[in-house]
Amino acid sequence: MAEAPTGIGSKPGWATGGKTLVRKATIVDPGTDDGRPFIADILVEKGRITAIGPDLAVPSEGSAETIDGSSLLAIPGLVNAHYHSHDVLLKGAFDVMSLERWAMRALPRFFPPRSDRELRLRTLVGAAECLRGGITTVQDMLSLWPLTSRQAEIVRDAYREAGIRVVLGIQLADTGPIDTIPYLRDILPPDLTGLVNGPPPPPGTPVPVAELERILVDLAPSPGDLVTWGVCPSSPERCSGALLEQLRDIARSLGSRLFSHIAISRVEAVGAQRLFEAFGGSPVRYLEGLGLLGPDLTLAHGVWLDDADVELLARSATRLVMNPMSNLKTRNGIAPFRTYARAGLRLGLGCDNCSCSDAQNMFQAMKFSVLLSGIAGRTDDGPTAVDALRAATLDGAFALGLEKLVGRIAVGYRADITFLDLKDPVFRPLNNATRQIVYGEGGRGVSAVMIDGTFVVRDRRLMSIDEDALAEELAGIMPAFRRDAEVVFARAGKLDPYLTRAEELSWGVDVRMTRMACT
Ligand SMILES: [Zn+2]
Repeated sequence: MAEAPTGIGSKPGWATGGKTLVRKATIVDPGTDDGRPFIADILVEKGRITAIGPDLAVPSEGSAETIDGSSLLAIPGLVNAHYHSHDVLLKGAFDVMSLERWAMRALPRFFPPRSDRELRLRTLVGAAECLRGGITTVQDMLSLWPLTSRQAEIVRDAYREAGIRVVLGIQLADTGPIDTIPYLRDILPPDLTGLVNGPPPPPGTPVPVAELERILVDLAPSPGDLVTWGVCPSSPERCSGALLEQLRDIARSLGSRLFSHIAISRVEAVGAQRLFEAFGGSPVRYLEGLGLLGPDLTLAHGVWLDDADVELLARSATRLVMNPMSNLKTRNGIAPFRTYARAGLRLGLGCDNCSCSDAQNMFQAMKFSVLLSGIAGRTDDGPTAVDALRAATLDGAFALGLEKLVGRIAVGYRADITFLDLKDPVFRPLNNATRQIVYGEGGRGVSAVMIDGTFVVRDRRLMSIDEDALAEELAGIMPAFRRDAEVVFARAGKLDPYLTRAEELSWGVDVRMTRMACT
């Protein structure tokens, strides 16, 4: 039963979009050669940074708000380059577990269809967490089950309410776990096959690819829209070759980017040996064979890529986003940041799912991405805090194809700026701004967030969303959600022994690389 989304939770008329002059901010722009902070005024007009310099004149035409930036550290708005909003309501629901067992509990296709109200609320809650954490852009790879244009529109509209910049994509797949997880078909009792692949779509569900095409045309962004669309085949394993080709053609015909997952888990690496046998067991070479590689494709994770894969990604200018927190929580090891960067990849960073990460916190992602490289034991050869901040801003924008729009504090860029509080103890004394952002800041210092020239967070408060009303409405839907989730978890529990056995058998197979450091 469809319900009309309510207006509760949002603040109508919050956007200002006027001129803003920020006086004497300490600015870190990762696009400069040395990335060193400098003190300057920032002028924002019509959503764009129009001037940066000392003692800028107040614009003569129209009113401008002048803000004292002397205790603010301005960085480009953080880019969460890989995110899923569909499991926002499951944050904290799971402790560490394998990717394969987690997926059985968290993916929408194992749940009954969700209400329009729940979709809107979860989208707003996820956006609120991103915004409060200084994230101004997300790439949401969204699974809707079943896929309907109405629910896609609700999510799109919720993001517009929140005022966050989003590259939204509907994730499609047509191949179930029984065909992707090695050994599972051999060991799973036949009566559990239906559980592992999930229920069939409800009667009357539109054909997903046709519905996706309708969404991309009917909900096409207007000029300057903060919500734009990408096309998202779930992964080379979870999509047939025919589906990958269809989505490739749809993306190319609309000029959209493609987003997908790649080489997340060791179990996947074992599965790839069979699934992509004709391509040397490489999902990357398989994608190359289908004509998907190139600068219009962004891949997420890439933990279990070999040197030839990485070289091919770099040569084809395919873009890659690392997700260190979710990779560790789902026991997938560490993507080698240093090796990939040396091969020529510009790496974005993401916080991934809300139930396997579990925070939408780019400060955590930055710190993890640098410090995990220490496991290799060498010193002084990077990556450094400068690399991490660049990955979370400019290179994240590059991963989303937005590098000419956002990711820098520089004249001509859209005014997506995160302001950190220099009075926070983390920045006292201020010895090295970038290192203190990456190694010290956890999100507490996010004082204000500007997106497209409008303050969406101010004095640590969300301007676009009434958080008290949102919390109240959320509390109203959670009992029903939790009841549904308990049924899903109980079903998944029946599969655990077989998934665990499939994982054990997979771990016995040599994949000619390691992404684990110790036991
Ligand atoms: Zn993902």
